[in-house]
Amino acid sequence: MSGRILEVTGLTQHFKAGRHAVVHAVDGVSFSIRRGETLGLVGESGCGKSSCARSIIRMYDPTDGKIVLDGEDITHMSQKELQPRRRKMQMIFQDPYASLNARMTVRDIIAEPLLAHHVVKTKQEANDYVYPMLERVGLTAEHAGRYAHEFSGGQRQRVGIARALILQPDLVICDEPISALDVSIQAQVVNLLRDYQQERGLAYLFIAHDLSMVRYVSDVVGVMYLGRLVELCAAEEIYKAPLHPYTKGLLSSIPVADPKLARQKESSGIEGDLPSPVDPPPGCRFHTRCPYAKDVCAQQVPPLREVSPGHHAACHLCG
Ligand code: SF4
Repeated sequence: MSGRILEVTGLTQHFKAGRHAVVHAVDGVSFSIRRGETLGLVGESGCGKSSCARSIIRMYDPTDGKIVLDGEDITHMSQKELQPRRRKMQMIFQDPYASLNARMTVRDIIAEPLLAHHVVKTKQEANDYVYPMLERVGLTAEHAGRYAHEFSGGQRQRVGIARALILQPDLVICDEPISALDVSIQAQVVNLLRDYQQERGLAYLFIAHDLSMVRYVSDVVGVMYLGRLVELCAAEEIYKAPLHPYTKGLLSSIPVADPKLARQKESSGIEGDLPSPVDPPPGCRFHTRCPYAKDVCAQQVPPLREVSPGHHAACHLCG
């Protein structure tokens, strides 16, 4: 347990939608993240990745399951109890514009967590942390007095990263941090996160909607479909030997630059729309779109089980 910064067991997050409907955003998700490791969590929009992240950081009260941060069960802690623990776990959001206060200068945005956690007493003292951090994320002291709207998307995300890293957390939850950025900027942001990880040994839960985005950052990859984890294994394994039909479909939908290779690729196995999480299909939730579905798939939930050493998949046909 000592090497694990986060352990999530059977995490379930349901939301009421109207008088009788329930959104099954996350259902029984389990994984752990070791110190210094990155777990990439992937799936289509609406599959529950962000709900999972927000439950872990306790923006929501989990419906069921257990969240252990650095050996401490935080599942049912009050916001007051959580406050000192938040230093260990920070979040970077997808939309750096919406997540930054438009009326605060960059200096104040980055200094705010230092003051909230009593690391420093005054804004003056905070500057000793803020200016080196600005440099560390590729900005300069000149940027400190400006406002978020004066920056490009990439620069805004650097401010969001600086704010998340200023408390030197052990774990950062990155909720689609590069999805809203130009492709040319994505690699810069990913490199920044990776370099900082190598310096400080922090862990990331890196959320993305396609497997190509997590390829170069992840040690472990988890694939979610409609609230459930359907595959979990070492990153290189998932790209070389995916097991779950949904993962295979996600991989085959990654664009390939070489037209010859593109023709050789299997066509995407994912057809149709993601079913509603209000009334998810019974049995394997992927059965309505799976090209290999059998009768049993609509009747029995396939458990996530270890099909080969370290490689877990939730499919009746795997193994
Ligand atoms: Fe497809 Fe059945 Fe496997 Fe689900 S359990 S992924 S429907 S083969």
